[in-house]
Amino acid sequence: MIPAKIPTQTNEPASDWISYSRQTVTESDIAAVIQALQGDYLTTGPLIEEFERQFADRVGARFAVAVSSGTAALHLAMLAAGLGSGDRVITSPNTFVASANCAAYAGAIPDFADIDPLTGNLSPQSLAAAWSADTKGVIAVDYAGIPADLPAIAAVVRSHGGVVIEDACHAIGGRFFHQNQSYSIGGHPWADITTFSFHPVKTLTTGEGGMLVTDNPDYADTARLLRSHGLVRDPSHFLPGESMGWHYQMQQLGFNYRMTDFQSALGISQLARLEDSIHRRLQIVDRYNQAFAGLPGVQTPPDDGQSQGFSWHLYPLQIDFVGLSLPKDLFVKYLTKHNIDTRVLYLPVYWHPWYQQQYGYRKGKCPQAESFFLRVINLPLHCSLTDAQIERVIRQVRNCLTNPSLVYF
Ligand SMILES: *Cc1c(COP(=O)(O)O)cnc(C)c1O
Repeated sequence: MIPAKIPTQTNEPASDWISYSRQTVTESDIAAVIQALQGDYLTTGPLIEEFERQFADRVGARFAVAVSSGTAALHLAMLAAGLGSGDRVITSPNTFVASANCAAYAGAIPDFADIDPLTGNLSPQSLAAAWSADTKGVIAVDYAGIPADLPAIAAVVRSHGGVVIEDACHAIGGRFFHQNQSYSIGGHPWADITTFSFHPVKTLTTGEGGMLVTDNPDYADTARLLRSHGLVRDPSHFLPGESMGWHYQMQQLGFNYRMTDFQSALGISQLARLEDSIHRRLQIVDRYNQAFAGLPGVQTPPDDGQSQGFSWHLYPLQIDFVGLSLPKDLFVKYLTKHNIDTRVLYLPVYWHPWYQQQYGYRKGKCPQAESFFLRVINLPLHCSLTDAQIERVIRQVRNCLTNPSLVYF
């Protein structure tokens, strides 16, 4: 039974704290989940396939496989593409650790090429220079929602016979222009597999959750098999003494990476609002860009100019903290004191102690990614921000940038 009163989700905590990111959950999202909870399936039910079908349609892919997280989608992408022991897989250092960890899970060697200093995305030139005989694949990340240069990246990778995985966890529902044609992320020809995350900070959430999309039926089959222990129920594989009634058989070592039915209910409900969410984030990015353009020592993120089709996850502002004599940590503290939450994304992945110990990577490996990390600050960006809150962020950031000595008071 539906409780008489569904608690109302307030989208911002009681204080005037402005989160850097958070989910937006509506009454109809809540109703959809409650309805799923009252159905016959909690885990693998009919809503999984429904969510997969709608998601595949939206991004323009042939196949979609729903999984328990974006990290699980990346891991399955590695295995489906046959990347593993002895293979080197190159990704961007300017990303969440999961983009690189998945290669290590599969027994491959995660490696890094440098970024383009404006977009924060993998540079095709650095990728070409970093390619070695054992490199077999690339994970291109659409940092902040800015699409990586997939046509140029795919040209490099495919000239060597490698596989292109696109980690589009930041770019759900995004589009980009290439040679005057519009392409959707997940539906263009320059990635073999594309992965998404539905973590609450992402543009569409299912709590935890993720999706792998591909046009390759073999990749889709493998991902589907491995998401549920590698178990099959195909009668052609009966062992002696078995019957249809109880047969199942494990042919490969798989995992429990399943999404639940009620998470899919939330996903379907959120997907119905995706265009609005993308549009609202775009509005906020436009407002920030307009407010910060032309300030000395400040670089706003690039937009695509033509289609306005980016699906923004983060707002990365690059600031010349050294040139402005503005210590970055004091700038962050100043904003925190004014109830504005920020992030610094990302610490170059190979700076993490595990990467240094495991692979011997050292500082200096990707100078552009390191300098980006020193300059970047991510301002609040999510659909529950009010216009007044956005103006508050702008006012405080502009105050500091035009009068850096403020941070000392
Ligand atoms: C969020 C994210 C992931 C991991 O997704 P989870 O759903 O949290 O496992 C992977 N890559 C990038 C770039 C992300 O932002």
